[in-house]
Amino acid sequence: MIDDSNLKTKGFPTLEELKRLGTYPSDEAFMKGPIAVIECIEEIPCNPCEETCIKGAIKIGKPITNLPRLNTTKCSGCSFCISSCPGLAIYIKDYTYSEKEALIIFPYEFLPLPKVNEEVIAVDREGQSICKGSVIKVNNNKANDNTVLISMVYSKEYFHDIVAMKRL
Ligand code: SF4
Ligand code: SF4
Repeated sequence: MIDDSNLKTKGFPTLEELKRLGTYPSDEAFMKGPIAVIECIEEIPCNPCEETCIKGAIKIGKPITNLPRLNTTKCSGCSFCISSCPGLAIYIKDYTYSEKEALIIFPYEFLPLPKVNEEVIAVDREGQSICKGSVIKVNNNKANDNTVLISMVYSKEYFHDIVAMKRL
């Protein structure tokens, strides 16, 4: 656990802190296609993500307070694990989406829901406005346990920064 972390002092982890923990995928892994990012940095007794992943890509093991580790070679980016997480700590990113745009799929808990093709603001871990985003899918499937999954594309320039969206 990071005692002097940005999470403890400001309520969110920095990218550097995530990389220091060793749970953030490598650039090489991101270059291969869609992949889960698990920003779970509190050692809490929780493991539904591990149980949900049928690929066996998420490992927590024992004790249950271990931080989840992603085996990037097993992850297909299917997004099934997103709705299993009560902490909204998992999203999917795809650096290979197009030449200039990256894709992120993240859980969204606000109403009204955005619409497909809606222009939105892509935000970073602090909730700061970073760049424009475009919603390409709103997945409100009941199989997702009532967790709405938003797919949004945005400039690759901000690939690592973006984690969510807000309305214009
Ligand atoms: S995206 Fe799919 S394969 Fe990857 S960790 Fe989540 S459930 Fe497993
Ligand atoms: S389900 Fe979410 S909060 Fe629980 S261990 Fe997995 S990533 Fe962390």
